[in-house]
Amino acid sequence: WKKTVHIAVTGASGQISNHLLFMLASGEVFGRDQPVALQLLGSQRSREALEGVAMELEDSLYPLLREVSIGIDPREIFKGADYALMVGAQPRGPGMERADLLDLNGRIFKDQGQALNDVASPDVKVLVVGNPCNTNALIAMENAPRIPRKNFHALTRLDENRAKCQLALKSGKFYTNVNRVAIWGNHSTTQVPDFVNARIGGRPAIDVIGDMKWFRNEFTPTVAQRGGALIKKWGRSSAASTAVSVADAIRALVTPTAPGDCFSSGVITDGNPYGIPDGLIFSMPCRSTGDGNYEICDDFIIDDWLRSKINASVDELVKEKECVGHLIGT
Ligand code: NDP
Repeated sequence: WKKTVHIAVTGASGQISNHLLFMLASGEVFGRDQPVALQLLGSQRSREALEGVAMELEDSLYPLLREVSIGIDPREIFKGADYALMVGAQPRGPGMERADLLDLNGRIFKDQGQALNDVASPDVKVLVVGNPCNTNALIAMENAPRIPRKNFHALTRLDENRAKCQLALKSGKFYTNVNRVAIWGNHSTTQVPDFVNARIGGRPAIDVIGDMKWFRNEFTPTVAQRGGALIKKWGRSSAASTAVSVADAIRALVTPTAPGDCFSSGVITDGNPYGIPDGLIFSMPCRSTGDGNYEICDDFIIDDWLRSKINASVDELVKEKECVGHLIGT
């Protein structure tokens, strides 16, 4: 048997975790021969619910699930974590400004970043799901100087999956034929789903679909606003497809990326090949050798249209960073 992988999950009694934890325990994320331990973080208000989650996990008799621990102190729950999946965040309330949300969540991520720094595995991989996820990841990273900056990710895989779905529907090809789909920028409506570099059945998506108006006027806003559209229909934000995309995002790190393909993740821009300013958590196309690490792909073409959209997302993230300067010591 392999050495057990320790996975800390915050917001563990929430909607997304309710799907995600069972995927992690089943072996479909880390592999069918990989034992896992789940370390679940809740709060005083979710304590009982968290006990219920642990009971359900135990009753599922997953052969790979070696341990379930629960608690409300990040310094206990993050101890020895190899992966930290940071799902918990305060939702935006009525009348709350974006800056208020940034500040409220920023405090949580400052505290949790410091706790990761102090007690997690020194090579812990951190995936922030809770919104605003790019800036929350930045705050956690800046408060965890012992952990490599490269190890922090903000989830944009759901946006990539949504983009692939739209390309598959439009082209009439099954989604497994769609690859090299990058999401650039912030996990917000300024995100840039990249149709310029996308491929369908090995050919440029632009040639296969051949309708630039559709790409610019329909595809791009449909992907960027998919989350909002789903809330309108469903009355709550996406949970199952988000959990699936978290599983995809982790699998992308622990399995080698196919030649020529990429996966999207919000990662640190320091030294990136596209001229995006350093010091931001920005979604870019990445590749992995399958050992949990990645590099940024350096062969994507940025045309004028992509560049202007990317610049708008940079501006938004720079503003978010300014709002949380007091939490990252800038
Ligand atoms: P839920 O409301 O179901 O769960 C969120 C969890 O966050 C709760 O269980 C709660 O746990 C925790 N929480 C709430 N308030 C606070 C607080 N003040 N401090 C710390 N933790 C808090 O939400 P979901 O599971 O549906 O979504 C979780 C997050 O994921 C949200 O921020 C959402 O916006 C984001 N999201 C991100 C996506 C992406 O693609 N990046 C896509 C979809 C959602 P407890 O009470 O135990 O603290």
